[in-house]
Amino acid sequence: MSEQNHDPIPARQAKPRKTIAIVPDPGYQPLFESSAKIQPRSINGRFSNWRWAMVWLTQLFFYGIPWLQMHGRQALLFDLEQRRFYIFGWLLYPQDFIYLAVLLIISALALFLFTAVAGRLWCGFSCPQSVYTEIFLWIERRTEGERSARLRLDSGGWSGEKLLKRGAKHGLWLLVALWTGVTFVGFFVPIRALLPELLSLSGPWQIFWVLFYGLATYGNAGFLREQVCKHMCPYARFQSAMFDRDTLVVTYDAARGEARGARPKNVDRKTQGLGDCIDCGLCVQVCPVGIDIRNGLQYECIGCGLCIDACNSVMDRMQYPRGLIRLSTENGLLQGWGQNELIRRLFRPRIIVYGSALLAISIAMVASLSLRTPLKVDVVRDRGTLSRIVAGGQLENIYRVQIGNATERDQRYLLKASGLAGIQVASEAEVEVAAAQDRWVVVRLQAPYGIAEPGSHPVFLTATAVGDDRLSTQAKTTFLVPR
Ligand code: SF4
Ligand code: SF4
Repeated sequence: MSEQNHDPIPARQAKPRKTIAIVPDPGYQPLFESSAKIQPRSINGRFSNWRWAMVWLTQLFFYGIPWLQMHGRQALLFDLEQRRFYIFGWLLYPQDFIYLAVLLIISALALFLFTAVAGRLWCGFSCPQSVYTEIFLWIERRTEGERSARLRLDSGGWSGEKLLKRGAKHGLWLLVALWTGVTFVGFFVPIRALLPELLSLSGPWQIFWVLFYGLATYGNAGFLREQVCKHMCPYARFQSAMFDRDTLVVTYDAARGEARGARPKNVDRKTQGLGDCIDCGLCVQVCPVGIDIRNGLQYECIGCGLCIDACNSVMDRMQYPRGLIRLSTENGLLQGWGQNELIRRLFRPRIIVYGSALLAISIAMVASLSLRTPLKVDVVRDRGTLSRIVAGGQLENIYRVQIGNATERDQRYLLKASGLAGIQVASEAEVEVAAAQDRWVVVRLQAPYGIAEPGSHPVFLTATAVGDDRLSTQAKTTFLVPR
């Protein structure tokens, strides 16, 4: 008997599989697109030289100033622990916070003014992000070579040579970044004391901030670079509010450049129907943010002018006039204005308002700083001791007084009370305070009993430097007369 399949459960027939056809949506936009690494080409020229001049100027100041000494202390030091700010000849206290606020207003006005005049001048030439990127790029060129060599290195596999070059680059980047961190912290902690502290691994907060600032520099200037300007910096977003049609910006003269196209050097471009742009792409290769200025003004442009240098060098080689890419204004480009007209347009209402406000506030701040009395007196009533009658029938109130000597030498101050008939300082009337120091003292004020109605009476305590009457300041407090 042949074996038959008596399986009571009939085998299921396999269903044909459904296939889903994925049709690309023509309107689909990915939420994230990683950008290609930019390897800018180096270029020589006027704007490149200005950028380097600014790198030297800002970094000589930044790295050099903390080492400058004045009156036996660091000339510029924001001593947060002692709550004193040494700014060259001035000693400021937290009460002088108003000056910091005014300084911020001056910086904002200066930014408005420079932006209205010449676009993103700050971004291209002085912003720490641009400056450190330029320094890190310089190291990259020295260790890995020019743009083409770096592109080859990026696309090639790992080898001993690549390891060596990358190692040297990152080692130097880290050194610069860490020294930048040390210098930054050196504006808040005396830098000459900071170095031994760091070397002996004491001062955990100092170590933390050095590493934090150093690694931020390493990451921003070494890796993020133009991404910071494009996606993180708020200034790029609101700068257009300060622009007008007479603001100087880096522009491509399309009327002169188009139609673009390659051509041999000695060909008459007019007969070929070509403009001055030979479409060499050099202006794009040197751009640190990787944009093509021929597409018009873009918010990513930091106004560094390197594309101007690049294009001018091409124009020179082609024996065409310079300035196909140049600094001009929207109006200037439309009207074909020359340099004189552009300069004349500088004196427009917006610039005059920004400039006048900046000048007035700067003068007021310098005058106020120069005229301010380098002596602070704060009086706090001692709430632990009530008003009391002491020997001789005198009514006594006790205060805690802080005297801040904001000069660079030791001073003796004479304390005097006023505001009520017969009121006087019953404690030690002369107080010595060391240079650039504060001192708390207990002061007893006495007035004849019955001289005033019961209640609280305003009185004044005046401190005057012994031997210099001009150095005097007064603080207000209250004198309590009990019922
Ligand atoms: S560098 Fe000048 S010539 Fe070359 S592509 Fe740019 S605009 Fe055209
Ligand atoms: S377009 Fe020109 S000016 Fe603007 S960021 Fe690029 S190189 Fe600098």
